[in-house]
Amino acid sequence: MSEAVLEKPKDRVSYHDSVEEMLVRIRDDGLSSVFSRFDEQEKIRCKFCLQGLSCQLCTNGPCRINEQKGPEKGACGIGPDAMAMRNLLMRNIMGAATYAHHAYEAFRTLKETGKGNTTFQITDTEKLKWMCEKTGIDTSQSINEMATCLAELLDREMKVNPDQHSIMVEAFAPKKRKKIWHELNIYPSGIEHEVQNSIASCLTNVDGDYVSLAKKALRLGLSTIYTAQIGLEMTQDILFGTPKPHEVDVDMGIMDPDYVNIAFNGHQPWIGAAALMKAKTKEFQDLAKQCGAKGIHIVGSIETGQELLQRFEMDEVFCRTDGKLAGN
Ligand code: SF4
Repeated sequence: MSEAVLEKPKDRVSYHDSVEEMLVRIRDDGLSSVFSRFDEQEKIRCKFCLQGLSCQLCTNGPCRINEQKGPEKGACGIGPDAMAMRNLLMRNIMGAATYAHHAYEAFRTLKETGKGNTTFQITDTEKLKWMCEKTGIDTSQSINEMATCLAELLDREMKVNPDQHSIMVEAFAPKKRKKIWHELNIYPSGIEHEVQNSIASCLTNVDGDYVSLAKKALRLGLSTIYTAQIGLEMTQDILFGTPKPHEVDVDMGIMDPDYVNIAFNGHQPWIGAAALMKAKTKEFQDLAKQCGAKGIHIVGSIETGQELLQRFEMDEVFCRTDGKLAGN
């Protein structure tokens, strides 16, 4: 594996020839790309928006704050620090809710796999047992029973409210940090409560204090890690195997015209992983051959591509990913 780091020449957007070739093709076809659209936006970029000192949240706006020339507050009375922090918190909420959605899909897939209702199977049984031990689940049960119990526990963890204790936070968070989080009032509940609490705080005139908003963002972040991300990563390891380093081809020019190329684009692995398993069977490869192709290639794109490439070896069916390029 080469460790050389290539420098991008000045007159190019990428050091990949295939990306440059694709951009010429896009331009010649009269289409836009992220690069051409970005250049157009750059010419009219709004300084207020860049500073976070504008708000379009309610019908009393849009409001802008200029501390030198005035006004110093939005129509609702919010100041510049809180306006900027509220904008940031709303971006945090989008990220947290997206992870919660991913986790929800992971946990229900694990549960149904434990019941034998999916195309997947439990691959990393040691990790399943370890997660059960960490969360207090009986490990004398069968593998599938453990998977079902763990999935139900992880799903409940997303719904933990401030009057309850999170098993995942208690099991995985460092002891010293938990004490500090309690003192700062940022010890997290389940992600569903924290998303709800945070977005409700962003409404006009609910929370105009930047410190309070910042603490909600911190609590939301902790909740995302402990009640969504750790569980979903462990679940994907349990289902597809724990990632190991391996070589893979990554580029734009990965479509092979002799094959049926199916590209999976998105943030979650489920459909791509299920299709990959089907595509590896003789039945589906023969279907492609009957139509005149040499076979089927599964191609990963964006995060789905990354999810697939870290857990599946490159072979004659899953051979490539375009990384994040196609998303742009
Ligand atoms: S929430 Fe406040 S700052 Fe934002 S648009 Fe409404 S009045 Fe203006």
